[in-house]
Amino acid sequence: MKEVSVIGLGAMGATIAQLFLDRGWRVTVWNRSADKAAALVARGAVLAPSAAEAFRAHRAVVMCVYDYEAASAILALKGVAAAADGRLLLQLTTGSPQDARDAQAWAQRHGAAYLDGAIQAAPDQMGQPDTPVLLSGAAQARREAEPLLSVLAGNVVDLGEEIGAAAAMDLSTLSYVYGAILGFMHGARVAESEGFDVARYGEIVAGIAPAFGTFLQHEGKVIQSGDYAVSQSPMRISVEATQRLLDTARASGINTEFPAFAAGLLQRADAAGLGNQEIAALIKLLRA
Ligand code: NAP
Repeated sequence: MKEVSVIGLGAMGATIAQLFLDRGWRVTVWNRSADKAAALVARGAVLAPSAAEAFRAHRAVVMCVYDYEAASAILALKGVAAAADGRLLLQLTTGSPQDARDAQAWAQRHGAAYLDGAIQAAPDQMGQPDTPVLLSGAAQARREAEPLLSVLAGNVVDLGEEIGAAAAMDLSTLSYVYGAILGFMHGARVAESEGFDVARYGEIVAGIAPAFGTFLQHEGKVIQSGDYAVSQSPMRISVEATQRLLDTARASGINTEFPAFAAGLLQRADAAGLGNQEIAALIKLLRA
């Protein structure tokens, strides 16, 4: 049966409920503020009178609320624990690996199957062939949830049984994204302080992004293998590049925080004798 309860009707939860309705599913919804359900009810969703009733309505329950504090508050509402017995809870609220482990323990205590997913897309990017969602949890539950997930995301990255994996990989990729954003912003200051078109800079960055992704993929393999012998260019090149960024920022009188941080790390790696290894050897400094 194509039927599901969706708990949480913020920007993402409402989009999720709408996608199920669009595909002809029977959809029950619940939100702390019931008024947010009105548009979905007008399109055919049923508003459950309580979170417990939303759990009772269907075998599959998708939850997507602000954070795990909100999710835990909902799971603690009257009648929810009893209603969770025999349910499949797909938790799409963003959280930490420990949040996922705690939620799985709660589900196990109350007889529910549990999956943890991390959405890596904005609401209007949901339901597309390339929409990325990281997923972890028991194999049987992952198989059962396939029809649900196929409505929401074409690019479900299956991370296996360890329940914290989706949240961990979400954090890892967030770290990459914010590192890139900080570097991009400093680059924008370099470009504008030299009088160059920042939109053009953005185009150039987009052009090199795929090759940079391939490079990072290689560095991940190097770290995993533990073989840091230089395949193309030694870390020393990056030591010099980040120092040049810092020197230029100082000379131009622009903000130096990002290059100072990057150059500082790379200089310490060089001082630790890693300069002639692959840049992936920076991980050794971070592990120390
Ligand atoms: P949102 O628009 O701010 O909605 C928050 C939802 O959480 C609302 O349904 C809200 O209920 C509920 N909520 C908050 N505190 C609560 C509490 N104490 N008890 C019960 N319900 C509570 O957030 P969103 O954009 O939908 O995001 C939901 C999740 O998706 C988050 O974990 C977010 O990280 C993840 N996500 C979002 C995006 C995005 O671009 N939006 C992208 C990727 C992942 P009320 O309506 O009653 O306030």
